[in-house]
Amino acid sequence: HDEAAAARAAAKSASEGGPTIFDKIIKREIPATVVFEDELCMAFRDVNPQAPTHLLVIPKERGNLSQLSKAQEDDKSMLGHLLYTANRVAAQEGLDKTGYRVVINDGVEGCQSVYHLHLHVIGGRQLTWPPG
Ligand code: 5GP
Repeated sequence: HDEAAAARAAAKSASEGGPTIFDKIIKREIPATVVFEDELCMAFRDVNPQAPTHLLVIPKERGNLSQLSKAQEDDKSMLGHLLYTANRVAAQEGLDKTGYRVVINDGVEGCQSVYHLHLHVIGGRQLTWPPG
């Protein structure tokens, strides 16, 4: 339907290497509700939340990591840090008591729309499976 078609179109047209909107969020050039930050990563609220809590966890330096499928051996520590941080911010939101979901959309068929790696942390309601 319309929404799915729009998401696919956005994913297809997204550039794979140029700067993204997340660079502007990191540089504080556009506003975002930042809930956690350290020297390596940042977590902020998704502008179009799919659940009561919907956060994005991103590396501050994108490097290779425009998307998970571009990850190299030397990205392993950053990938671990992002996943560890996803649980920290989930706990900060109280989701460690109820459960939550971490999602990475990769590429066209994964419906990725921003080519700067991000972990979605989604919770605060009963989620269903499988995803669309
Ligand atoms: P993807 O579809 O690539 O997995 O996820 C990209 C996410 O970034 C979407 O959930 C979208 O709502 C979110 N997003 C896109 N632009 C912005 C923005 O300017 N600010 C915030 N906070 N989230 C954004």
